[in-house]
Amino acid sequence: MEIQGKIVSNTKLNIYTQSLIVKPEQVKKIDFEAGQFMLLKLGETLQRAYSITNPPNQNDRLEFVIDTRPGGPGSQFALAAQKDDLVSLSGPFGKFRLRATDLPKVFIANGCGIPPLISMIEHLLHTGKTMPVKLYWGMRYQHELYFAERFRALKRAHPNFSYTFCITRPAKEEPFCATGRVTNVICLGIEENRKAEFYLCGKLAMIREMKTILTQHGIPSENVIHEGY
Ligand SMILES: Cc1cc2nc3c(=O)[nH]c(=O)nc-3n(C[C@H](O)[C@H](O)[C@H](O)COP(=O)(O)OP(=O)(O)OC[C@H]3O[C@@H](n4cnc5c(N)ncnc54)[C@H](O)[C@@H]3O)c2cc1C
Repeated sequence: MEIQGKIVSNTKLNIYTQSLIVKPEQVKKIDFEAGQFMLLKLGETLQRAYSITNPPNQNDRLEFVIDTRPGGPGSQFALAAQKDDLVSLSGPFGKFRLRATDLPKVFIANGCGIPPLISMIEHLLHTGKTMPVKLYWGMRYQHELYFAERFRALKRAHPNFSYTFCITRPAKEEPFCATGRVTNVICLGIEENRKAEFYLCGKLAMIREMKTILTQHGIPSENVIHEGY
């Protein structure tokens, strides 16, 4: 579906990450599934894919979280976008979606792989699912983290949700933070997650490494669902 939208906000989340909220212009709502992405049109033949961060019940808007470090047209767009700017999008697309099972869920992201996982987690919790839902999010530095209050609020409201920020270069000890790469932190808790379904999103190198680790620990490949950027 082709959608014209208007930017309602563009907020800096950390020194290299922008959060853009887009409201559709001609339609009241956009039906999508948690984990899907939209194509943002940047020129006649130029487009970039961005995952939808908000959950499907908030279907009157699209929230995108964009890492501007690659520095190409998508990054430049995210840095320059202003409130009330018009944008063209198409979608939703993508098969990175939640399976309709009651298995415990483990979500693993590094860097800017977090957006589709937030949509999935908020969807599961909003729809009253009671299986354990765990998030492991890898970043280099604590000061790069964002949405800390969003995760705290989810945890307060949903006892089945837990999260761990995996920080490779921590400046200090903090609640919900573990030291090390997300791949290492996962190994420490693998026994308690053996029966879970794993959703991975982020850099291709992390996905490859994580799939190898999960296979070595006997996690069946059909329980590992992933999207690499
Ligand atoms: C299904 C899907 C969903 C996506 N969702 C998101 C999302 O939610 N948020 C988000 O920020 N991005 C997301 N991406 C990535 C996004 O589509 C763009 O590739 C990214 O924003 C870079 O675009 P650009 O135009 O700024 O840079 P480009 O012009 O594409 O690249 C500029 C330079 O940076 C290099 N480069 C490109 N990407 C990376 C990278 N990730 N790390 C290091 N170097 C890189 C390129 O090789 C090139 O040299 C998604 C990609 C896919 C396929």
